[in-house]
Amino acid sequence: MSIAFIDLQAQRRALGSKVDEAIARVLDRGDFIQGQEVREFESALATFTSAAHVVTCANGTDALTLVAMAEGLGAGDAVFVPAFTFVATAEAFSLLGMTPYFVDVDPNTFNMDVNSLKAGIADAKALGLSPRMVVPVDLFGQPADYTAIAPVAKQENMILVADAAQGLGASLHGKQVGTLADYTTTSFFPAKPLGCYGDGGAVLCADADKAALIRSLTQHGKGTEKYDNVRVGLNSRLDTLQAAILLEKLKIYEGELAARDAVANRYKDALKDVCETPRLLSGATSSWAQYTLKVTNRDAMQSALKAAGVPTAVYYPMPLNRQGGYRDCPLVPGGVPVSEALASQVLSLPMHAYLDAASQDVICNAVAQTMKSGSV
Ligand SMILES: *Cc1c(COP(=O)(O)O)cnc(C)c1O
Repeated sequence: MSIAFIDLQAQRRALGSKVDEAIARVLDRGDFIQGQEVREFESALATFTSAAHVVTCANGTDALTLVAMAEGLGAGDAVFVPAFTFVATAEAFSLLGMTPYFVDVDPNTFNMDVNSLKAGIADAKALGLSPRMVVPVDLFGQPADYTAIAPVAKQENMILVADAAQGLGASLHGKQVGTLADYTTTSFFPAKPLGCYGDGGAVLCADADKAALIRSLTQHGKGTEKYDNVRVGLNSRLDTLQAAILLEKLKIYEGELAARDAVANRYKDALKDVCETPRLLSGATSSWAQYTLKVTNRDAMQSALKAAGVPTAVYYPMPLNRQGGYRDCPLVPGGVPVSEALASQVLSLPMHAYLDAASQDVICNAVAQTMKSGSV
């Protein structure tokens, strides 16, 4: 038996001929750019998340850049991001000349720590930066603590952007990801919980004017006349084939989320007395983009699991403040000790909606045996 880290082939079997048929329809029509499935998918995703407006774009990184462009941000503007995330959360803003400011995360949820954010805001002002935006990340599928962060953003007159590249389908206190911030951005990269077969992304928001502005920005700053480009934009579109694929995948997403949750619960039952398993905020559900343990001797655990046929991955081995392109960005006073520690401890286990109980037994036994053997 071979265990997959993420099993896209099992998902393809579950979809049957649906995706192939959807692709064939687009090939037959030939409307590869801005074809009918693009709008259909936007409207289906708006219904699914309860977001008022959905504008698709080329990827989750562009989605973040588009939001900052729509808000007119640039040089001298500080955007607060967690140090423990994928690089895109900072990169999207560096590209516009903004200053990513790194704050620390909570050791239990791995998501933005509101106290670190508050310390960062005060320091950024002292540095002469304008605090304009805060971007909590729904890391590994769990919504950030928007209940704590939103009032801080409001008080400071900052735009709140949820980087939900990993968190689509999760919720906090009964509110869906997509409605928890001024803007929500997401990614349809194949390995994300809702992935397409290439690149894709979207911005979700409540404000109709901002949604229209972002749509213009995705199409070279297009105005109402076809060749009158009224602002500087990007070429950032979700293509029709990907939208057609996503429409089919969205139809089974609710069921997949339930299956992911069942997988997470089985992991928890088997591993909670063995090692440190993920913790959710009270009132939070997760889309379980990753199931991530904290282990002290990670290298030993990873090789023991590999020997037992269990694939694992490290998200992320280095906090952003240590990475070459971001070393000069400001860092919260006292640094980001939690992000630094997590970077050396986190280990993600196989996680997908089609992971069967027998495979999970193999995985959990291998983790337990390794812990017991004392090698970690
Ligand atoms: C994947 C990811 C992104 C970027 O998405 P792309 O579609 O790959 O550009 C941004 N933020 C986080 C947290 C991600 O995991």
